[in-house]
Amino acid sequence: QDTGLCGESEDDWLSLMPTEPLQSQCCGSGCKPCVYDVYQKELAQWEEDAAYPSNCLLLFLQSSSSELNPDTFTAFKISSVEQLTEDTYQYKFELPGNSSLGLSLGQHIVLRGMVNGLEVQRAYTPVSPVNAEGYFEVLIKCYKAGLMSQYIKSWIEGDTVFWRGPFGGFPYSPNQVSYIIDTEWLST
Ligand SMILES: Cc1cc2nc3c(=O)[nH]c(=O)nc-3n(C[C@H](O)[C@H](O)[C@H](O)COP(=O)(O)OP(=O)(O)OC[C@H]3O[C@@H](n4cnc5c(N)ncnc54)[C@H](O)[C@@H]3O)c2cc1C
Repeated sequence: QDTGLCGESEDDWLSLMPTEPLQSQCCGSGCKPCVYDVYQKELAQWEEDAAYPSNCLLLFLQSSSSELNPDTFTAFKISSVEQLTEDTYQYKFELPGNSSLGLSLGQHIVLRGMVNGLEVQRAYTPVSPVNAEGYFEVLIKCYKAGLMSQYIKSWIEGDTVFWRGPFGGFPYSPNQVSYIIDTEWLST
């Protein structure tokens, strides 16, 4: 049965209904909004769009932005893959035009992956300069038993993967303090 002006059926809309995240989808790094907040927001948007027959599925699908944002996942294309050690890889992603990712010090982004039909989300910290234009890079150690690691190891140049963010960071500006002490060794 058609429900929209563009001829889509109820089944078409149902197939796009956001699904509630599993615990495995939470990256555990305290993102705000977290994966459950994003789900609630996407569900509300879906309910609103599906309720009006004049809405077009195509417009709903095209409503996502091409810029990184914390609420929804954005697609980024891998422009190069470099193996640095036995289990460490550097991945470069294209950004539209000469844009920058717009992260500040210590911020991370969250990757979405599918492993054996299970959606997984994990946090990664870009290693490219914060003002790098037209690209960003991440350095990832892949673990043999790691869920996301299995997905990441399958990446090749030209693949498209999904990120959201930024999250976290440190309230620090250049020369704010005269020295920094690493206390990590005191506890070991
Ligand atoms: C804020 C933040 C930023 C991060 N930035 C980066 C980054 O830039 N680059 C990067 O490579 N990772 C980063 N991580 C870690 C990353 O989010 C994942 O935890 C990591 O890639 C493992 O995910 P996985 O799904 O492959 O492993 P999981 O399925 O979560 O773990 C399965 C197994 O993998 C192994 N394993 C997983 N994590 C570790 C670990 N940290 N130490 C030792 N063994 C481990 C263990 O054997 C574990 O049992 C960051 C994490 C956080 C919270």
